[in-house]
Amino acid sequence: MSTGLAGRSVIVTGAGSGIGRAAALAFAAEGARVVVADLNAEGAAAVVEEIGEGGGTAVAVTGDLSEQAVVDAVTATAVERFGGVDVLVNNAGIMDGMQALADVTDTEWERVIRVNLTAPFLLTRAVLPHMLAAGRGAIVSTASEAGLRGSAAGAAYTASKHGIVGLTRSLAVMYRGKGIRANAIAPGGTRTNIAVTAEQGAHGPTTLGPHFVNVGRLAEPEEQAAAILFLASDAASNVNGVVLPVDDGWSAV
Ligand code: NAD
Repeated sequence: MSTGLAGRSVIVTGAGSGIGRAAALAFAAEGARVVVADLNAEGAAAVVEEIGEGGGTAVAVTGDLSEQAVVDAVTATAVERFGGVDVLVNNAGIMDGMQALADVTDTEWERVIRVNLTAPFLLTRAVLPHMLAAGRGAIVSTASEAGLRGSAAGAAYTASKHGIVGLTRSLAVMYRGKGIRANAIAPGGTRTNIAVTAEQGAHGPTTLGPHFVNVGRLAEPEEQAAAILFLASDAASNVNGVVLPVDDGWSAV
C-alpha cells in the first residue's frame, strides 16, 4: 500500500537531531514537504540542507516550541509554504536528571513539563483547525518507555510522557470521525543526543538502579522514524489512539 505521503505538508519538531532528524529525512524521501522545527538552528539548517541535496523540500523554523509565538510561526510556515498541515509529529523532548519526586525542583519540573507536554499541547491546538478544515490529519507524538512504566526515567520525565499518552488517547477519541488520527510511539533506548539535555541530578541514573533492567538493544533513530512514518501514513488509516512500543521488547518484560 502507498504511504500517501507524497506532496503532504508535514511538521516535525525536534527535527534537528536524533529521532526527529531521521523522521524528517524519511518523510522527505516519501515526497512529503517538511517543516523542520527545532531550538537548535544549526541542526535544523543542516537537516534542511540534507533534504534539499536529496531533491526534497524542507524549511526550517527555529525557536523554543514551548513559546506560543514559535508555535504560531511553525504553523503559519506550514500553511503558507505548503498549503496546510497534513501531519504533525510532536517529537521534540528533553530528559530529566532521573530524580525521584521529592528531589525534583520547581525549575526542573517546569522545564521538563513545558518542553515535553505543554509544547505538544500548544502545537496540536494550533494545527487542529487546519486539519479540521481539510477534513484530514495525522498526529504522531513521541512518548517513551517512560510513558508506559515508572522505572524508565525520573518523576518529571515519566509524568510528561504519561501525559503524552493521555493527550494522544484524548485526541483519538474526540476527533475520531473527523478524519483526524492520533497515535504515539514509545521508544526504548535510542542512539541520539538526548543525554546532552539531561539535568545532572543529585542521584543521576543510579536512582533507578536495579529496576533499569532488560532494556533490550539500543535502537537507531531510523527504526523509530519508520514507526512514526507508518503511523502518519495511509497504511495506518484505521490505527487511532495507539501507543506503539519500539523497544526491542522492553515493554513486554
Ligand atoms: P535529541 O536530543 O537527539 O533530539 C531532540 C531535539 O529536540 C533536539 O534537536 C533539540 O534541540 C530539540 N528540542 C529540545 N527542546 C526543544 C524546544 N523547547 N523547542 C524546540 N526543539 C527542542 O533526542 P531524541 O532522543 O531524538 O529525542 C526525540 C524524542 O524522543 C524526545 O521526545 C525524547 O523524549 C524521546 N525519546 C528518546 C529516547 C532515547 O533513548 N533517545 C527514548 C524514549 C523517548
